[in-house]
Amino acid sequence: MGKQKKTKKYAVMKKRISLKDQRIKEKDRAKIQPKKEDSSAIKEREVPQVPSCLFFQYNTNLGPPYYILVDTNFINFSIKAKLDLVQSMMDCLYAKCVPCITDCVMAELEKLGQKYRVALRIAKDPSFERLPCSHPGTYADDCLVQRVTQHKCYIVATVDRDLKRRIRKIPGVPIMYISNHRYNIERMPDDYGAPRF
Ligand SMILES: [Zn+2]
Repeated sequence: MGKQKKTKKYAVMKKRISLKDQRIKEKDRAKIQPKKEDSSAIKEREVPQVPSCLFFQYNTNLGPPYYILVDTNFINFSIKAKLDLVQSMMDCLYAKCVPCITDCVMAELEKLGQKYRVALRIAKDPSFERLPCSHPGTYADDCLVQRVTQHKCYIVATVDRDLKRRIRKIPGVPIMYISNHRYNIERMPDDYGAPRF
C-alpha cells in the first residue's frame, strides 16, 4: 500500500468578468458573446442557388466539333419532322457536329422492330460515332446520364421530358431538342453563338 498524497487539488479557474458587468461596453459585449446563427441562413448556404447557365463558364471541354449523344426518340422525331440529323445539328450550332450513338440506344432501336428500320439505318450510318457500353441492360437514359456526368464533353439530344429534367441537374451539359421543325439548344454558353428561337 502506497502512501496517499495529502495534497488537495484545486481546479484552476480563471477569473471571468460577467457579461452583465457595467464596465463592459456595448460593442465589446457583442464581440464576447457570439450571436446565435439563424438556422434558415445556414440552410441557404448549403444549397447554392446558382442559375445553371453560369456553370458553362467552367466547361471548357465543349467546343467544335460537338459530340452529340442522341437518344432513340430524338432520331424518331427527327424522321417524323423530316430533319436530316447531321445537317440540322450543324444548322443549329453553326459548327461541325458528330452524332454519337451508344450501344444501348442502338439496342433500343433494334428492339423497336420493323417500324423503326429507318431510324436504325440512320443510326448505323458511318457519320455516327458508335460509343461502346460496358453496363448491363439496355436502359439508355441511365447510360446517357452517367456518361455526361463523368465526361462533360457532350451535348445530349433528346425530346424526352424526364431525361431533359435529369440532364438539367448536371452542370455543363447542353440539351438539344426539336421545336418548330428545327433543332434548338438550351444551356449553351453564349460565346458559342448558338441562335435561339
Ligand atoms: Zn449504354
